[in-house]
Amino acid sequence: MKKTNRQIQDDLIKQYKITIEPNSKCYGRTHVHIKKRTICKWKQTNSIVSTFTLLHEIGHCENNNSKMRRCEEEYNATQWALDKCVELNIDVPLKIIQKYQRYIYNELARGLRRNGSGYPSKEEMQLRYKMPTRTLL
Ligand SMILES: [Zn+2]
Repeated sequence: MKKTNRQIQDDLIKQYKITIEPNSKCYGRTHVHIKKRTICKWKQTNSIVSTFTLLHEIGHCENNNSKMRRCEEEYNATQWALDKCVELNIDVPLKIIQKYQRYIYNELARGLRRNGSGYPSKEEMQLRYKMPTRTLL
């Protein structure tokens, strides 16, 4: 029988030794404390959206490199999540990929505004941080 999203999530939490903090006093949306492997503000629901959010946060733990730019961190975490979905045979709706793509490009644009000199050209960066779409998966 095919696993439900909730089962997949519970398995991932166990496998990657993640702690879910349901009563976090942290501000803002879902995020992970990498060293403690603790995820705050994550809402577990039986949906692919919820599963992908979890995978993205685990991806931050699995790609921990403090030298990365913010958009690189977001890209690598998302890419890790997408790879995991291929491995687990989870079909990721294009809408989700597009949402994360926008998020990554927003972070890229912010980085370019703040510290543009250290970056390659915008076009090059946009190519580098482009998510594969479902047709490529
Ligand atoms: Zn993230």
